[in-house]
Amino acid sequence: MYDAILIEKSAGTSHARLTGIDDAQLPSGDVTIRVAYSTLNYKDALAITGKGPVVRNFPMVPGIDFAGVVEASENPDWKPGDRVVLNGWGVGETHWGGLAARARVKGEWLVPLQAPFTMRQAATIGTAGYTAMLCVLALERHGVYPGAGEVLVTGAAGGVGSVAVAILSKLGYSVVAATGRPAEAEYLTRLGAREVMDRAALVEPGKPLARERWAGAVDVVGGQVLANVCAAMRYRGVVAACGLAGGMALPITVAPFILRGITLAGIDSVMCPKAERLEAWGRLARDLDVHHFAELTEEVALADAIATADRLLAGQVRGRIVVPVA
Ligand code: NDP
Repeated sequence: MYDAILIEKSAGTSHARLTGIDDAQLPSGDVTIRVAYSTLNYKDALAITGKGPVVRNFPMVPGIDFAGVVEASENPDWKPGDRVVLNGWGVGETHWGGLAARARVKGEWLVPLQAPFTMRQAATIGTAGYTAMLCVLALERHGVYPGAGEVLVTGAAGGVGSVAVAILSKLGYSVVAATGRPAEAEYLTRLGAREVMDRAALVEPGKPLARERWAGAVDVVGGQVLANVCAAMRYRGVVAACGLAGGMALPITVAPFILRGITLAGIDSVMCPKAERLEAWGRLARDLDVHHFAELTEEVALADAIATADRLLAGQVRGRIVVPVA
């Protein structure tokens, strides 16, 4: 038997518990992996607590990320001993995920562990960090480069936000980090933020167009915050929108689009094509300083993952949670 978090549903309510599973219970797939590390992302916390409709079938092992070693493979691309990483593809939502000592998945979903990262470092990056890199790539694709002006990162002390601040500042952008936790200002400055602003400045409904400030933005919050960010973009500014931590609605007008030519670039990490994943991981190896890893990472035992999910949704987790599994 292997340790696993299992989410079951009864009488319309989902419930997560630590339990044992065996090989016979693993879902179909052509590669079986001994999971070394999984992680807790915002989506995992929604799944574990049942506070969001993340899990599509029950019972479900959550965990949208893992890093581990191939144990058995019927896929020609992978052999026992290969070190692999998985992010997304519906794992932890429709297919059993990484918060278990074994996982069985489709080989096409895996990417090789990117040198020079260790498996623990790859887990620290996880979906949050790889999504942050996808956001940076989107800014570049739309022409926002260092020197263009200030770039805002919202939800900056969380997983996606922290990695985005670290990458953008290493690349030479002038990064402004918006956070609801003033106590994390020093942390964000150490990651490279030039200025830390209070999230409160972004939460009240504002005008369709505000003073032009941001050349680029990475937004994990959505809702009114994203609307206000769009309203304050400079001419031809670009917002990479990837999250909904502050809400799903987008109370916005077309004014910033048709008068300032701004771009709202949507970011999805789950079904992102493999070539872009490989590009993002390659860029992470180049553009994320390994000396930030200690600061970015909190390690939580599998047995404590359920309690940590509540803490994450309450906005009390800084950076990334990694969960050693095997
Ligand atoms: P975290 O919980 O680590 O970080 C979210 C941060 O958002 C918090 O730390 C907090 O930052 C801020 N925040 C939380 N609640 C609110 C609120 N009500 N209003 C304003 N800000 C808030 O989550 P992740 O970094 O893992 O994920 C962030 C978002 O990105 C989530 O919505 C997640 O679903 C989404 N996501 C999307 C992906 C995609 O493929 N599109 C991939 C990965 C994540 P602070 O304390 O600094 O204010």
